[in-house]
Amino acid sequence: MDTATDGKRETVFSSNDYLGLANDIQLIREAKSVLHDFGVGSSGSRLTTGNTRWHEKLEKRIAAFKQTEAALLFSSGYLANIGVLSSLPEQGDVILSDELNHASIIDGCRLSRAGTVVYKHVDMDDLEGKLKQTQSYHRRFIVTDGVFSMDGTIAPLDRIVGLARHYQAYVIVDDAHATGVLGGNGRGTSEYFNVSPNVVIGTLSKAVGTEGGFVAGSHQLIDFLLNHARTFIFQTAIPPSSCAASYAALEIVEADKEKRKGLFSKAKKVKSALTDMGYQVKGGATSIIPVLIGEAAKSVLFSQKLQEKRIYAPAIRPPTVPVGESRIRLTVTAGHSSEEIDYLLESFNLIGKELNMI
Ligand code: PMP
Repeated sequence: MDTATDGKRETVFSSNDYLGLANDIQLIREAKSVLHDFGVGSSGSRLTTGNTRWHEKLEKRIAAFKQTEAALLFSSGYLANIGVLSSLPEQGDVILSDELNHASIIDGCRLSRAGTVVYKHVDMDDLEGKLKQTQSYHRRFIVTDGVFSMDGTIAPLDRIVGLARHYQAYVIVDDAHATGVLGGNGRGTSEYFNVSPNVVIGTLSKAVGTEGGFVAGSHQLIDFLLNHARTFIFQTAIPPSSCAASYAALEIVEADKEKRKGLFSKAKKVKSALTDMGYQVKGGATSIIPVLIGEAAKSVLFSQKLQEKRIYAPAIRPPTVPVGESRIRLTVTAGHSSEEIDYLLESFNLIGKELNMI
């Protein structure tokens, strides 16, 4: 929760460590013991000298967690998105991409030989229209974030999968912000909507608390990526100690349902209190709470005033969000105490009045 960039303590209210696992003692213990046996680096790509039993063990654990046949580790979620999108859709195919998809999806689309068509944010009528217009392509891939990181919206994956079935398209979901958070067991958007997209991409760097990315899906998909995804083939593997920490984290994520429940009740409290104060708050039923400020300069000022109160929540500005929609992207985590939440709300009340916003 606390950071010490200038030597003073402050409470972080913008972290993606949703379940507070990044500093979990059990994870640290697991990582330490493997660190001792395997060293600090993996020394090579998975296909050369970088493979260990910990990488394979973690892949099996991710597949079991995501309830897919298999999974493949990447060094980051960014590289997993790029690896999938630059290899799976080929020339003659088309990718239909939500306009607010993460930068790594956009970069993956740019690297792909397939065409890209952008549809309006979570707008199913627009997506359907675009599916109708793209019938002449060989294969169609719909790609979406599961939870949109800057807006906190949940993609309507049930409707997306339904449209994909009707129009014979494939669905790729980037579940970076949903993994560990959504669904009874934290499995993500697929569990939340009880659907099975063709490709599930994720990261271990958010609710899982560690680092590394992954793809989960069929044996056929994973086998294809193993042989074609350049960001898998040519990238040094993550350290085995990191795999061990992730393995331990997934055990906790699945078992500790109370952590998730606590997270949602805190998020609900913050959202309704800020709305009652008069703030415009975006987002869905997640722990991402984007508070709209408007002008970029005002958002920076707001963030500075929070920091003066020892609260860290940076301003999010263009190009990350549209012009005029700068915001403070708050996140609550399982680690926040009720005193910290009350202090956050009190600070928003004071700063909002001082800046004549509420
Ligand atoms: N997808 C989304 C939606 C993200 O928000 C992020 C991280 N900001 C990533 C992918 C990349 O994940 P990683 O940090 O593991 O590279």
